[in-house]
Amino acid sequence: MSDNQENNENSKYLPIIVNTPNYTFRYSDTLSEDEFQKIKKSLDSCYQPYKDFFGVENHAKYRVYIYPSRDEFHDDWYNNKMPENFIGLGGRGFLSFVSPQNCLPTMSYERAWKELVPHELAHTFTFENINFFQSEWHRWFVEGIANYVYFYRTGDVSWYSVEKVRKAIQLLGYIPDLNELGSHNKVNLEVFSKNYGWQFADVAVDYMIKEYSEDIVSKIIKNPDKTPFEVMGITKSNFEIGWKKYIEEIICV
Ligand SMILES: [Zn+2]
Repeated sequence: MSDNQENNENSKYLPIIVNTPNYTFRYSDTLSEDEFQKIKKSLDSCYQPYKDFFGVENHAKYRVYIYPSRDEFHDDWYNNKMPENFIGLGGRGFLSFVSPQNCLPTMSYERAWKELVPHELAHTFTFENINFFQSEWHRWFVEGIANYVYFYRTGDVSWYSVEKVRKAIQLLGYIPDLNELGSHNKVNLEVFSKNYGWQFADVAVDYMIKEYSEDIVSKIIKNPDKTPFEVMGITKSNFEIGWKKYIEEIICV
C-alpha cells in the first residue's frame, strides 16, 4: 500500500527512537531487540539495491515507524479509515508497518518478511521524486514496482503469481481496465483492493518491463511530470490493449 505523505513524529505508541545512517526508526517497547535488528538488517540490505534500481538521490533519512499491532497502526494513520486488513504503507520520506510478528491474519510471519517490509521501502523510493498533490501518479505502477523490485534484488521468480491473476479474473468475472486500478491517483485503495489491484498491477509491470526493459522504471520515476505512458511513448489505450493480450497469453499457458 502507498499513500500521501504524513508523519507521526510524536506517536504515543512509538516512544523508542534509533538513528542509523539511512533511517530513523520509531518503535514500541514491546518490540524485541532481536526483531528490531532483523527489521533493520532487512531495510539496510535493500537500501543500496533500491537506490540503484530506482536511480534516485534520497533527500533525507527515511523515517521508519514500526507498530506493535494493527490497532495502533490504524489509530495513528488516517484516523482508522484504512481498510481493515491493511498493515503497511510507504510514502515520501517514510514507511510504516506492523511488526512482522503481528501481521496475522493478513499475512504470515514469513510473507511479512519477504513482502511487507521491502514492499513499503520500495514505495518510499518510488515517491522520492513525486509530488503527491501535483503529479499524476499511477497506482498500478507504484504497487507493481514495489513487488517487482523484490525480484530485481533476489532473482526470485515468485515475485508474482499467474495463479493469483487467474483466480482474480475468476472472482471478478473480467479483467479490469487500468482506470479501475488507478491509472491516476484518484482511484482509492479500497477500489484498487476490491479489483485485486496488486495481482493485475504485477502483470502490468511485468508486461511493461518485457516490452520496454527494466530501465523504463527509473525513467518514469525521474519524469514525475509525465505519465508512465508518455515516458513509454505509447497511448494509454494501446498499452492497455497490449497488457490485456499479455494477460490472456500467460493465463492460457
Ligand atoms: Zn503497496
